[in-house]
Amino acid sequence: MSEPASPYFREEHAALRAQIRRFVESEIKPQAAAWEEAGFVPRAVLRQMGALGFLGIRYPEEFGGSELDTLATIVLAEELGRSSFGGVAVTVLVHTDMASPHLANAGSPAQKRRWMPDIVAGRCITAVAVTEPDAGSDVAAIRTVARRDGDDYLLNGTKMFITNGVHADLIFVAARTDPSVKGTRGISIFAVERSAPGLSVGRALKKQGWRSSDTAELVFADCRVPEENRLGAEHAGFYAIMRNFQNERLVLGAMAMGEAQAALELTLAYVRERRAFGGVLWDKQAIRLRLAMLAAKIAAGRELLYATAWRDARGEDCVREVSMVKAYCGELVNEVMYDCQQFHGGFGYISESAIERMVRDARIHAIGGGATEVMLEEVAKRLHF
Ligand SMILES: Cc1cc2nc3c(=O)[nH]c(=O)nc-3n(C[C@H](O)[C@H](O)[C@H](O)COP(=O)(O)OP(=O)(O)OC[C@H]3O[C@@H](n4cnc5c(N)ncnc54)[C@H](O)[C@@H]3O)c2cc1C
Repeated sequence: MSEPASPYFREEHAALRAQIRRFVESEIKPQAAAWEEAGFVPRAVLRQMGALGFLGIRYPEEFGGSELDTLATIVLAEELGRSSFGGVAVTVLVHTDMASPHLANAGSPAQKRRWMPDIVAGRCITAVAVTEPDAGSDVAAIRTVARRDGDDYLLNGTKMFITNGVHADLIFVAARTDPSVKGTRGISIFAVERSAPGLSVGRALKKQGWRSSDTAELVFADCRVPEENRLGAEHAGFYAIMRNFQNERLVLGAMAMGEAQAALELTLAYVRERRAFGGVLWDKQAIRLRLAMLAAKIAAGRELLYATAWRDARGEDCVREVSMVKAYCGELVNEVMYDCQQFHGGFGYISESAIERMVRDARIHAIGGGATEVMLEEVAKRLHF
């Protein structure tokens, strides 16, 4: 399908899109099935992406970044989503757009000089650990504690479902620095290095989808972290998390739209070839019109995504629209996958077919990074009438 002209993207975005698409075709798609089996993306691939500039799209040139805008990030997320390997996409996007922004937004100049160049080069892979076994949607309910001990903090608690948690070098961890207050106050963010004493992987978690993404339960048992590793002001972490969620949700929406687009293209190709009842499936009006409606919905989702990214790039407050993007795109990708699998018939249920993996990968979009209901509450709060 040819792409209509877009008012949002400039030449540099188109060049980046073409470059990432080439990388996905030549370096990701041929090998990613093996990474699904292995349960993680090899480090060499992330370093290769770092060398090509894909891991520092918005970061300052002094750290090796390209200083592009939110729309460039959307291009990266959409194209990785289009790869049809959600596990690879999320491995990269957690590093670039969900974890490392904690350092970029709240880190001191010294902290940035220490870690940013390696993050942008793909030598230091990052994770973000907010969720706990008893606190996911409700971030204010986290219980991991960071208690002062001389010039250090001692972290105690368990983090759950942490993407890149098995293999990351640097983990941004949310913990309560003031246990005497509850809720949103008294939370701080720490940059915890893999080698920190007292940090261990409780277990690597097996999942329905995103199988090439490593996911961990992390255990902090008197984990010693120097004060110089605290990001930003003490007790101000909740607001940093909420701020970074905006970028995370936009990026997840973009990834979902890339996946939906890829599934639609795959299915269009399939129904034009697959024969039944003396013709091809495309001849069936019920199928054709259903796919046409999905194309319309994907177009609508992408326009909402692009418009919101454009507003974000201008520095506008768009929490309502970001929440809409996350809710709408997260649900839509599942609707698209359901129908695309349906029109693949029995082959779509067989593990070696791409659509079977894509169905599994898509499910998390309605749950992770802000479940649909939680996002719709954010929208509802901002509907003025
Ligand atoms: C594969 C994977 C990777 C992840 N990666 C990370 C990561 O890297 N770092 C990290 O910190 N976290 C990560 N998460 C956690 C993820 O963001 C949470 O799972 C998500 O926020 C939902 O939290 P929960 O699982 O505790 O569900 P709960 O908060 O227990 O909610 C369960 C369900 O209840 C419903 N619900 C919740 N609140 C409301 C409400 N207010 N109104 C109506 N319905 C509601 C929703 O349908 C929700 O799915 C990951 C999760 C998975 C599965």
